Amino acid sequence: MRILVTGGAGFIGSHLIDRLMAAGHEVICLDNFFTGTKRNIFKWMNNPYFELIRHDITEPIRLEADQIYHLACPASPVHYQYNPVKTIKTNVIGTLNMLGLAKRIKARFLLASTSEVYGDPDVHPQPEEYRGNVNCIGIRSCYDEGKRVAETLAFDYHRQNNVDIRVARIFNTYGPRMLENDGRVVSNFVVQALQGKPLTVYGDGLQTRSFCYVDDLVEGLMRLMNQDYIGPVNLGNPGEYTILELAQKIQAMINPDAELVYKDLPSDDPKQRQPDITKAKKYLGWKPTIPLQDGLKLTIADFRERLV
Ligand code: NAD
Ligand code: UDP
Repeated sequence: MRILVTGGAGFIGSHLIDRLMAAGHEVICLDNFFTGTKRNIFKWMNNPYFELIRHDITEPIRLEADQIYHLACPASPVHYQYNPVKTIKTNVIGTLNMLGLAKRIKARFLLASTSEVYGDPDVHPQPEEYRGNVNCIGIRSCYDEGKRVAETLAFDYHRQNNVDIRVARIFNTYGPRMLENDGRVVSNFVVQALQGKPLTVYGDGLQTRSFCYVDDLVEGLMRLMNQDYIGPVNLGNPGEYTILELAQKIQAMINPDAELVYKDLPSDDPKQRQPDITKAKKYLGWKPTIPLQDGLKLTIADFRERLV
């Protein structure tokens, strides 16, 4: 198949491209390099079945493809809050453009949505039926509400124009190739510990997240794309940890002497998050296979190599 991956030079997108190329597909990677980098896809640059297009999805584009994985959007709070108006344009106008493309070329379209559609959840763990608790005027809303509109657009294009959609709600994912300055918690803690700096715990560190290794996540995305259930489907690892537990784990793995410093908790920071993956198990036969300890080992090795 010819497969378009928007945001393909980013963290998850580049791992997805590795899998698609290895499976013998023709891949078009479309990216504006805001948080993505050519380094992530460098190994495919001279492959005749790979094509890289520098393009901003807030502008329309004409291409041919059988499937579209739509991942383009900064995912780290630091990056999506850098230019929030641009983030919401990417989620709304960008997704509209990509759905318009899918409609015209009759491509199957998978949206990379997020657990952030549940906001600061008051139901725990979060099943897909939960409608969320999102502050529509807060600093996270350019991303949260942007993704909620992106889901709305996907379902409306499906109902109105018969676009063949799939919607994945991705929970916190980590692994090799996260940017050193990504700003998300796993990369921050690993980089800080490797550089002998104190680990920055926001708030009291008792808020929780559930961390999925990127290879597991990519497997889930591909399974979702290639079966009939349209979703939304939660994809994440149900193993739930407080941020303090994560800091202590990384501290123990890299530098037991590393200090922890406490910083202010950003506003609207969700207090708890854990995916209910009943649907992913049922429809995709998918569940994560890589425990946090193993995934962290691989992630630390990657950062160690890059930082040295
Ligand atoms: P990332 O920031 O590494 O990748 C995003 C990619 O999109 C980058 O390569 C960036 O340059 C590109 N991009 C951004 N705006 C663009 C635009 N206007 N036009 C073209 N390209 C653009 O993030 P990631 O972690 O790989 O996330 C990928 C997708 O998965 C995102 O849609 C994100 O919302 C979603 N997601 C990720 C996580 C996670 O934990 N990593 C969790 C939930 C959802
Ligand atoms: N966090 C932290 N220290 C950091 C970065 C993040 O304590 O250096 C916290 C953050 O406040 C949040 C959790 O870790 O409670 C996960 O943050 P991240 O930005 O990785 O993802 P998200 O909040 O979008 O789930």
